[in-house]
Amino acid sequence: MKVCNTKKEIRTVRDEFRAQGASVGLVPTMGYLHKGHIELVKQARATCDRVIATIFVNPTQFGPNEDLSSYPRDLERDFAMLQDEGVDAVFVPSPQDMYLLGSETVVETKRLSRILIGRIRPGHFQGVTTVVTKLFNICQPDYAYFGEKDYQQLQVIKRMVRDLDVPVEIKGVPTVREGDGLAMSSRNIMLTPEDRIAAVALSRALNAAEEMCVSQSVTARLLSNTIRSRLEEEPRADVQSVDIRDAETLTSIRGRIERSVVALIAVRFGSVLLIDQRVVTPSQVHLQKA
Ligand code: AMP
Repeated sequence: MKVCNTKKEIRTVRDEFRAQGASVGLVPTMGYLHKGHIELVKQARATCDRVIATIFVNPTQFGPNEDLSSYPRDLERDFAMLQDEGVDAVFVPSPQDMYLLGSETVVETKRLSRILIGRIRPGHFQGVTTVVTKLFNICQPDYAYFGEKDYQQLQVIKRMVRDLDVPVEIKGVPTVREGDGLAMSSRNIMLTPEDRIAAVALSRALNAAEEMCVSQSVTARLLSNTIRSRLEEEPRADVQSVDIRDAETLTSIRGRIERSVVALIAVRFGSVLLIDQRVVTPSQVHLQKA
């Protein structure tokens, strides 16, 4: 596995792959890898001739009071995990190499970046779309892999690629979970032991929502109230948001649920913000009865 610390180095590697006629899959990450990231790598490995992973804790997607400096890092462990999965090259740039002095150009999805998490974290998605565009331009992948765990991010990137005709195919990968249902996240390590136990509340609340959609016809309000009250049963959970949105456009849903929707939740435990999501599709039986 080649470790590239500069844009120049990864471009040379990319040129070699092109000369070999190989298809390239890209897996962008912020490091401190876990099985969720590795699932993206596995899917890339299964479909592409060459796999490039990137590790970059992107400063422009963190707000002034967010956890940029405390974001967990362990490069040696990350490299070993990527090597075990047969990754061909890993790109680990410095912020100075990524953002040249005087950088002033950004990429933004105007609506999608300002709703939901974009309201809680202003500027976050502009940082994401800008860095992902740069990674696409530097690595020029044929395919790029993103987790459904960061559901809004996945939709933002799909929209950006569509709107700007970026020549890459985006692949969404289902969320990998811990044994108790908590979505794997590099931030889970920052939870206190008590909060880690309590954090199961997120997946429990989403399970309740899904069961509800299977067994009866529901409105968006009933669904979001159910999720919120299940979350609030956990006293350690500081519920930031519960939203029921169209699964693709993330526009608000009112009234009875008649198409695929996504339930998006954001919950704080102490200073740690956890997110989770579930796509729910109303059963045909209940649609006909309604
Ligand atoms: P991050 O390092 O948190 O920026 O995540 C890098 C990529 O891994 C993103 O596309 C995430 O959506 C994805 N990812 C993170 N956690 C998981 C998970 N539990 N299951 C699947 N994908 C994940």
